[in-house]
Amino acid sequence: MAYVLALDQGTTSSRAILFDQEGNIAGVAQHEFPQIFPQPGWAEHNPVDILTSQLSAAVDVLGKVSATPRDVAALGITNQRETAIVWDRATGKPVSNAIVWQDRRTAPMCARLRDEGVEDTVRAKTGLLLDPYFSATKIAWMLENIDGVRARAERGELAFGTVDSWLIWNLTEGKRHVTDRTNASRTLLYNIVEDRWDKDLLRIFGIPASLMPEVVWSSEEVGRVTAALGPWDVPIAGIAGDQQSALFGQLCTKPGDAKCTYGTGCFLLENIGAKFRLSQQRLVTTLACSTQKRLEYALEGSIFIGGAVVQWLRDKMRFFPYAPVVESIAGGVPDAGGVVFVPAFTGLGAPHWDPYASGMIIGIGRDTGIGHIARAAIESIAFQVADVLKAMDADTGIKCTELRVDGGAAANDLLMQFQADLLGIRVNRPGILESTAQGAAYLAGLATGFWTSVEEIAKTRSERLFEAKPERAEMDRRYRRWKAAVERAKGWNQPDAQV
Ligand code: ADP
Repeated sequence: MAYVLALDQGTTSSRAILFDQEGNIAGVAQHEFPQIFPQPGWAEHNPVDILTSQLSAAVDVLGKVSATPRDVAALGITNQRETAIVWDRATGKPVSNAIVWQDRRTAPMCARLRDEGVEDTVRAKTGLLLDPYFSATKIAWMLENIDGVRARAERGELAFGTVDSWLIWNLTEGKRHVTDRTNASRTLLYNIVEDRWDKDLLRIFGIPASLMPEVVWSSEEVGRVTAALGPWDVPIAGIAGDQQSALFGQLCTKPGDAKCTYGTGCFLLENIGAKFRLSQQRLVTTLACSTQKRLEYALEGSIFIGGAVVQWLRDKMRFFPYAPVVESIAGGVPDAGGVVFVPAFTGLGAPHWDPYASGMIIGIGRDTGIGHIARAAIESIAFQVADVLKAMDADTGIKCTELRVDGGAAANDLLMQFQADLLGIRVNRPGILESTAQGAAYLAGLATGFWTSVEEIAKTRSERLFEAKPERAEMDRRYRRWKAAVERAKGWNQPDAQV
C-alpha cells in the first residue's frame, strides 16, 4: 500500500495529508469550519462541523491523488488539544457545542479552586496549572449549565472526549471510545505519574468517571474505520495532540531533544525521558508519544504571539502585502537599529505568565524605519523562544544543543539564523515543515509496519542546519536589552496600575 493518511484537526481548519513511504507529502486537502464566539472570552465549535470538515478533507485528498481507501495502510490523527466535547452514547448527539481550548469562561471556577488550595495537588498529579485552557473545567461547566446533563452523565448515558476521541468514536460508529495518553494528559484529570484517570481529580472537578474514554498508546491499532464516508476499513493506528505529534514528527524521541513550532504562536517541547519532573520555571509537564508503550515526558512552554507579530505588521501596519515579504524588508537593514519589540499583545505566556504585560516598541529614534521595526519583530519571536528554552535548560540542568524547528514562520531564514546566533546552538530545519501531521503519520505507520523503525524514518529526512556564529558578546548584550524591555512591558495593563 502506498500511503499513510494523517488527519490534522486544527482550531480553524481540518486537514488531511497523504504521506508516501519516503515520508513525503503526496497530497493535502484543507477544509475550514465556522468559529463560534457567543460572548467575549467564549470560543465554541460545532462538533458536527469538526467531523464533517475532517471527513470531507479525507475524501478530498484521496480524490486529489486518485487513491482509494485500499491504497492507505493506516490512519493517524492529530488534533487541537484540550477542546472538550460531551455526547450521548445512544444517539451520538453532542449535548452542546465543543468548548474550545481558547475559551476563558471557566476562569472564575479556576480562581475558586485555587483559593481552595488544590493547585499543588493538581500540579503534582498532572504537571499542569489550574487554567481554563485545560479540559476539566470545560466539562464541569457543561455539567453545571446545560439542562439535564449532570443527571444523564450520572446515569452513564454520556461520553466525554477531546477531538481525537470524538473523531474515532464516529469513525468506528461508536464502537471505540478512546483517547491517547498525550491528549489525556491535557485534561487535568489524568494522573501522568500513575498513568490513570485520577479519582481525586474527578471528585475535585465534580466529573463522573463513567464519562471518560479508555486511554490507549499513541502508536497502536485501536480499530478500523467503518463510517460510510471516508477512509473505509483503514486501521486507526496513531493518535497524538498536535504539539506532541510535532515533537514526534521531528523525531525528538530521546531526552534533551527539543522542537519549536513557529505558527501563530510558538510552542516549544523538550523530551525529558521516562522520569516525571515538575518545572521550577513555570513550564508544564506533559506526556510525549512513545512507540515503546512506556511513559515518556516532555516539558512544554507556549508563546502567544509568534508569527502573529508578522500578521500584525502586514494587516494593521500595512508594511507589506504578504507575510514572507517581511524577510526582505527586515533584511534591508543591517540590524534592528536599537529597536526592541515586545509583542505582548495578549499578555506574556511562558515563562513570564503576565496577563497584564503590554505590547511595546522601544528604542525608536529619528532614523528608525519600517526595516528596523520589521527586524525587531522577527527578532522578538526568537527572543521569546530563547526565554523558554533557557527556562527548560534551567529545569533539566542540561543545555539543549540543537533546536528542531517547524511551522509557517520557520520558513524565514533570517529568523532561523538569528535564533541560532542568539541561542548559541544549532537550529535544524527539516525539508518538510508539516511536523504535526507527519508525526501522526509516523505513529500510525510504525504501528502497522508501514515503517519498521524510527531509524528507518530518519534516513528519509532532509534538513537544513543553521549554525550559531561563534562570537557571543554582541548577542549576550542584545539579550540583556530584550530582558530589560520585557520588564518595562510587564504589568502595564494592570487594572490598578498607577499610570
Ligand atoms: P498556524 O498553524 O498557527 O495557523 P502556520 O504554521 O501556518 O500557523 O504559520 C503561519 C504564521 O507564520 C502566520 O502568523 C504568519 O504571519 C507567519 N509567517 C508566514 N510566513 C512567514 C515568514 N516568511 N516569516 C515570518 N513569519 C511568517
